[in-house]
Amino acid sequence: MKIMKFGGTSVGKPERMHQVAQLITRDREEKIVVLSALSGTTNALVAIGYAIAKNDKESAKQQIEKLELHYKEFINGLLKEETYRAKANGIIAEHFEFLQIILKISFNEALNKDILAQGELMSTKLFSVYLEEKGVEHALLPALEFMSIDQNEEPQIASIRVKLRQILQHQAGKKLFITQGYICRNARGEVDNLKRGGSDYTASLIAAAIQASVCEIWTDIDGMHNNDPRVVKKTVAIEQLSFDEAAELAYFGAKILHPASIWPAQQFKIPVRLLNTMEPEAKGTLIVEEAGSKGVKAVAAKDGIIVIRIKSSRMLLAYGFLRKIFEVFEKYKTPIDMITTSEVAVSLSIDNPAAVSDIKRELEPFGEVEVIRDQSIIAIVGNQIVQTREVLSSLFSSLESIPVRMVSYGASAHNISILLPNEYKTQTLQMLNKGLFGLE
Ligand code: ADP
Ligand code: ASP
Ligand code: MG
Repeated sequence: MKIMKFGGTSVGKPERMHQVAQLITRDREEKIVVLSALSGTTNALVAIGYAIAKNDKESAKQQIEKLELHYKEFINGLLKEETYRAKANGIIAEHFEFLQIILKISFNEALNKDILAQGELMSTKLFSVYLEEKGVEHALLPALEFMSIDQNEEPQIASIRVKLRQILQHQAGKKLFITQGYICRNARGEVDNLKRGGSDYTASLIAAAIQASVCEIWTDIDGMHNNDPRVVKKTVAIEQLSFDEAAELAYFGAKILHPASIWPAQQFKIPVRLLNTMEPEAKGTLIVEEAGSKGVKAVAAKDGIIVIRIKSSRMLLAYGFLRKIFEVFEKYKTPIDMITTSEVAVSLSIDNPAAVSDIKRELEPFGEVEVIRDQSIIAIVGNQIVQTREVLSSLFSSLESIPVRMVSYGASAHNISILLPNEYKTQTLQMLNKGLFGLE
């Protein structure tokens, strides 16, 4: 059994959905197809939720109507026969009625999650109607019945496996299954999600749960590139990455993969392939245990980083000091990305701004605390790069004019990270493209 996940742009136009249907019916291997919402839908739902939360019902209503119109046009392009169009319009109408009802009741965060789930629910149902019109036998698997997260918002593969197996047992004889990416249930049984871009995570979790032969992530680019193609003009696809390298790139901002999407595949040794829906014959990127080749593979950038710097002449050398600092971050459930220490100061970087003022207040008894916002982390990722001497020298000679604030070197054999003010990010990625990859 294999997993094929198609992202928003891969299902965002009727002709793309037609192409997805072709790609999933090219062979007879059993498969679970994971779909995202049509491109733009989740952003629209976020905006609708935001308008309702602000009590701007008029704006929310207008945005709901605009989105509904988009779906009506989509259906006309997707389906040919009137009976199937009527069926699809009926389905869509129910989802938009639900959004209209939310407008009239009092708003809360659980309802917001319900709003966000509509995109994947609609895309999978529309695709299912299209497969029906084409006469392709398949079954829809409701993700809300098997994809779940615990009280710490962590998905548990064992429980996903048990529930999924039970559902699949009732579908004996079927070979093609369609399900929603992104959405899940939380420990309270409410509708929830795996965070933005979470369909990749769904695909990897299902692949791990059923021990799939491969987890294919189909998107709008031919694999993981050596640099961010949204920022740098000339980038090239990487043929092979190890799970460790891919996980570092995903975590440090390569948007092609959700930050957490590698660990389930890695834990259960499921190969991951990144493929291009628009160019299905392109090689793409293979992610497996082995790195394939040595040297720097790619750079990626993560924005919105905040640095917290604690300066104290008294305490830094005392044992137990760092533990006390870490406990503050733990208390506010705020993960730390980078850390550097000297005899008089310690700097830590975080990407979650939610508890910054509480953290600052609780750190103040330890010394002078400074909060520096709008930073970026740039991760340089590759196989054994920390042991390769030339990497560090070409890295720093490429960055002469950049005010690098922190460096993390040696913690992982695959990653060197630097932290700098966000305004230097574009320039830095461009300079590294030339300095590390010889690309301009
Ligand atoms: P999908 O909707 O299919 O999930 P995403 O937009 O989430 O697609 O991810 C694909 C996009 O990721 C690409 O279009 C590209 O702009 C962006 N991206 C950022 N960094 C990289 C990278 N290193 N390699 C490839 N794509 C990247
Ligand atoms: N539709 C969701 C999002 O836009 C999940 C995904 O596309 O992976 O974030
Ligand atoms: Mg994505």
